Formats: sequence, C-alpha cells, structure tokens
Amino acid sequence: MEILKSPRDMRATAEEFRRQDLSLGLVPTMGYFHEGHLSLMRRARADCQRVVVSLFVNPAQFGPGEDLGRYPRDFERDRDLAAAEGVDVMFAPDAADMYPESYATYVDVERLTAGLCGARRPGHFRGVATVVTKLLNICRPTAAYFGRKDYQQAQVIKRLVADLNFDVKIEVLPIVREADGLAMSSRNQYLTAEERRQAACLFRALARAQELYAAGETRPGRFVDEMTAVITAQPPARVDYAEVVDAEELTPAGTVEAGNVAVVAAFLNQTRLIDNTILGKEYLGAEVNTC
Ligand code: AMP
Repeated sequence: MEILKSPRDMRATAEEFRRQDLSLGLVPTMGYFHEGHLSLMRRARADCQRVVVSLFVNPAQFGPGEDLGRYPRDFERDRDLAAAEGVDVMFAPDAADMYPESYATYVDVERLTAGLCGARRPGHFRGVATVVTKLLNICRPTAAYFGRKDYQQAQVIKRLVADLNFDVKIEVLPIVREADGLAMSSRNQYLTAEERRQAACLFRALARAQELYAAGETRPGRFVDEMTAVITAQPPARVDYAEVVDAEELTPAGTVEAGNVAVVAAFLNQTRLIDNTILGKEYLGAEVNTC
C-alpha cells in the first residue's frame, strides 16, 4: 500500500489510474478504524480495480469546543488495517496542505443541513461538504463509499454530488454494530466501561421505534416520546434529538410510513453519539450486528 501525503501526489496517482482505465473507489475517513470503516473498504475493494482510503481529521467540520484536539488517532494501526484490506493507496494529507493560509472557499448544502446534527453543530456539514468536494476533485473516483450510520451526512453528500454535477457514484452502506447493537464509532473510544454499557440505549430506542412501526403506529409524536423515554430511562444518557424524518428531505414525517428514518442523538456525559434505522426495512434483533 502506498502512502501519500500531498494532494498533488494523490492527484497524479489517481490520474495515472484513470489513464490506465482503472476504476477507482474512494473511502473518505477520519481514521481510528473499526469494522464500519473496514466494511466500506471491503466493498470498494470488491467493486473497483483501485482503492484509495483518505485519512484526514478535518478541522473544518469541528465546531469550537468540539473534540478536534482529542479525536482518537493511531496512524500505524490504521495503516496496517487498511493494508490488510488490500487498499492500494492511503491518502493522509496535513491540514496545512488541505487548508493553506490563503484558503477561502467553502461548500454549503442548504435545506438538508437545517435540522438534526446541522442544527446542533453549526458549520459541521459545511466542513464535511467542503472536504468531500476537495477529496472528489483530488481523486476523481468512479465511486465513493459512505456509511449509513451518518445518515444526514450521506444525504448531504448525495445532494452535493447531484447539485454540483460530480461524475461519481455514491454508495451508502449498512451500519455495522457491536453485539449489543451499539453502532460502531471512533467516538465510542471516549466511553468509560459503564458509559459503553449505557450507550446501548440508543439502539434500544431505535428497536422500540421499529416495534411501534410494526404495531401499526403512524403518529410521529408517539415515536418521539417512546424513543425519548427509552434513552431517558438510562441515566446519565440525555437526548439531543429523537425524530422520524423523510428519508431524503430529512423533514419531520407527518404520518409515519415505511422508509421513514428514525434518528437519534444522545449524550453519555460529554460524549455525543448518533444512530438511525429505516422503519419497516430492517430488523433490529439482538443477534443482528449489521443492519
Ligand atoms: P468517520 O471516520 O467517522 O468520518 O467515518 C468514515 C466513514 O465510515 C463514514 O462514511 C461513516 O459513515 C462510516 N462509518 C462510521 N461508522 C460506521 C458504522 N458503524 N457502520 C458503517 N459505516 C460507518
């Protein structure tokens, strides 16, 4: 596996792949790999002749007071895991090369970023849309791979790619979960053993939403109340949001129907976790660890 730091070298390597008519899969990440990241790499590896994984803790998507400084990092471990998945290139730029002092251009996806994490983390999706735009321009991949765990992010990126006429296929892959249902996340690293156990309440709230849906409930308020109750019943967990939204527009569902998405964000003390489930389309049973 080749490791490239400079955007110029990455662009030249990707250009060479294109010249040889090789399809290229891009997996954008912030590192500290877990099975969720590896599932994206595996799919890219199966689909494409060349695979690039980007590893960049993007300062532009962290707000003041967020966890940029203490975001978990382990370059050697990530490098070995990516190499073991057959990744061809790891692109790990420095912030100063992605955002030099002269930097002045940002990408704002409107409307879809108004609610949920966009409302609670001002500027977050502007940072995400900007870095994804840069990565797509540097690598010009055939396909780019994202996880459904960050549901709003995936919708924002699909919109961005359609609106700005990027010639890339966006693949959104299933959420990889721990045995108790907790969605894998680099941020799970922040949890103490006790918080880690308590964190399963997000998954239980989503499983409750699936149950309500299966029982024929259609009033969004009932979903909100029940998901909130499940999370609140597990102190110190605090709900940041719990909603049922339209799958594409992310607006609150009027009447809950199949394909709507139940989304939750909750704090375990200082750590903020998110998760979601597509109502009526997946089974959140105890033994299922990919859904
Ligand atoms: P991150 O490094 O957290 O920015 O994540 C990089 C990519 O991995 C994003 O597209 C995430 O949505 C995806 N991802 C993170 N956690 C999971 C998970 N548990 N299952 C599937 N994909 C995930």
